[in-house]
Amino acid sequence: MMFHVEQLAPMICPSCQNKSFKPLMDVGDHFLSKERFKLLQCGLCSLLRTDPMPSETEIGAYYKSDQYLSHGAERKGLFASLYRLAKNHNLSWKTNLISRLHNDASYLDYGCGTADLISHCQSRGMNVRGAEPNSEAISHAPSDVRAAIVSPKEELESIRTYDVISLWHVLEHIHEPREVLLKLKEKINSSGHLVIAIPNYASFDAKHYGAHWAAWDVPRHLWHYTPDQIIPFLESLGFNHIDTKAMWFDAFYVSLLSERYKGRPAFLGIFWASISNLRALFNKKRTCSSQTYIFRLK
Ligand SMILES: [Zn+2]
Repeated sequence: MMFHVEQLAPMICPSCQNKSFKPLMDVGDHFLSKERFKLLQCGLCSLLRTDPMPSETEIGAYYKSDQYLSHGAERKGLFASLYRLAKNHNLSWKTNLISRLHNDASYLDYGCGTADLISHCQSRGMNVRGAEPNSEAISHAPSDVRAAIVSPKEELESIRTYDVISLWHVLEHIHEPREVLLKLKEKINSSGHLVIAIPNYASFDAKHYGAHWAAWDVPRHLWHYTPDQIIPFLESLGFNHIDTKAMWFDAFYVSLLSERYKGRPAFLGIFWASISNLRALFNKKRTCSSQTYIFRLK
C-alpha cells in the first residue's frame, strides 16, 4: 500500500484563525502506515494539528483496515472483551443522554460509523438519522438502519433539522471543523443541542504516554483538542457550553492500546488508566482521557 501526503493548504487555525503554529512533538502512525507525523500547536489557542495533513482524497488509504472499522470487535482476548463491554455500556449511556436532552428528540448521529447507535436508538423507537462517508462501514447494518443514513455531504446540503446532533469521536477526523460545525448549527432547531465527544490531550494518560498515546491516532485524527480549547471554540461559533461528561472507559481503551504500541503487557494499561481516571475524578476540571461536551444554541 502506498501512502503519500502533499501539503497544499495554508495553515489557519479553524478555532481562532491564527496563522502561526509551532512544533510540539513527533508521533507515529502505530496503527497502520508506521509513518511519522508532527503535531503543530496553534500559538494562540493551543489547538494541535497533524502535519502533514492528508487531503480528503489521500486520507482514505489510512482507514484501509478491517480492524479500524470494527476496532477488533470480532476478536478474542482481554482487549476485545473490554472493548465489547465498553461498547454496550456506551450505547445505553449515549441513548439515555440524547433522550434526557429532549423528549422525543429528532436526532442526527453525524459520522455514525458502523451505525450501532442508530440501530440501538431505532430499537427504542427514537427518531434518528445518520451521516457517514464510509459506505463499507454501514454495509453490515440492517436495511432499515441503512435507509436512515446518507453521506455527510448530502446531509449538510439537505434542509432537515434536528433537536440533537452528535459527533461521537468524529470532530477530530474532520478536515474543516469550523465550516462543518457552522453548517451543523444551521440544522439545529431552536433550543436544540450539539453533543461532541473527543479525546483530550490534556488528560493524565496523554501526558503519561507522550508520543505513544493511542488517541493521537495520526493521521486519522487531524485536529487535537482540550477542554480549554474546544469550549471557547464552540462559544465563538454561537453555542453555550452547558455540561461536560467524563468518558471513563476511554482511558482503559486508549491505555491498553498505548501499551500494545509500546510492546508491553496489557495489565499496565489497566493500571495507568485507573490512575488517569482517579486523577480526573479528583480534578475540578475533570480532565478525563476523552470527554463529551454538551452545547446549546445561543
Ligand atoms: Zn488557534
